[in-house]
Amino acid sequence: MKREQIYREVYKEGAARLKDAGIREAELDARFLLEFVCGTDQNTLLVHGDRKISDTAYEQYSTLVEKRAGHVPLQHLTGEQEFMGLSFHVNRNVLVPRQDTEVLVEEVMKNLHDGMRILDLCTGSGCILLSLLRYSNDCEGVGTDLSSSALAVARENYEKLRRDRPELSACFLEGDLFGPLRHHSDEAERSGREARSREKFDIIVSNPPYIETDTISTLMPEVREYEPLMALDGGADGLSFYRRISKEAGSFLYNGGMLFFEIGCNQADQVREIMEKAGFCRIEVVKDFAGLDRVVYGSWA
Ligand code: GLN
Repeated sequence: MKREQIYREVYKEGAARLKDAGIREAELDARFLLEFVCGTDQNTLLVHGDRKISDTAYEQYSTLVEKRAGHVPLQHLTGEQEFMGLSFHVNRNVLVPRQDTEVLVEEVMKNLHDGMRILDLCTGSGCILLSLLRYSNDCEGVGTDLSSSALAVARENYEKLRRDRPELSACFLEGDLFGPLRHHSDEAERSGREARSREKFDIIVSNPPYIETDTISTLMPEVREYEPLMALDGGADGLSFYRRISKEAGSFLYNGGMLFFEIGCNQADQVREIMEKAGFCRIEVVKDFAGLDRVVYGSWA
């Protein structure tokens, strides 16, 4: 007869399996997966460890643990990632939001005022733009991305946030960086509407792909095999998006508007130079929680 499964034991079994498979945070991931399957929290594990778990839940858990042992990212299994205290839906069409990126959002927030217009390039899951809108008032956001399947995720996240905050105002456009905006204002002009400063912004923000092409094969399997290559690949020297964005950003910014980038920790000097050459001033570099350079920003004047 099959032994009855209890919560604490099942968790231990999962953690051991993941450790065996060389998963870095084996215990944490085993716990998250169990909580996900059982709809519980850490408290249940600590206080009610002898709680029985159903055969179906056990089977579901084992299947997920096996997938995680094969290096499928935890967030692809649970379908979500917390970012800025908000829960974002994710899948393999978007980059999983990173904690480092919260530093970028916080730097933007220091310069964000009610009613501003924000443009988020390479928006992916929409986590940057949507967090900024969620924690400000009357701002208007546009997110662009080359990937229509990423935008589907961003729109889903937008709709989810709007259930609590129906006044949030974002629009997600498919295309290459500023491309969809140009198209937008051409259309406005043709239709006789005023194209005016409609497509200008107070803030442009981006966490673009910034990994050197040759480095991608050395990343952990969770990233190189399961996250979208187009969200990672920054070209031969990793800087191609910084060049392209900096060159064009000025014509989409109001006077005094600001451009914010997340960067790889060894890219600060080069990105600063790229921004200076493009005409940005008052350039600052900000470090992440690990003390590494993570954000570069400057003003358009
Ligand atoms: N803007 C998204 C994020 O920061 C996606 C970034 C990307 O795809 N490079 O998570």
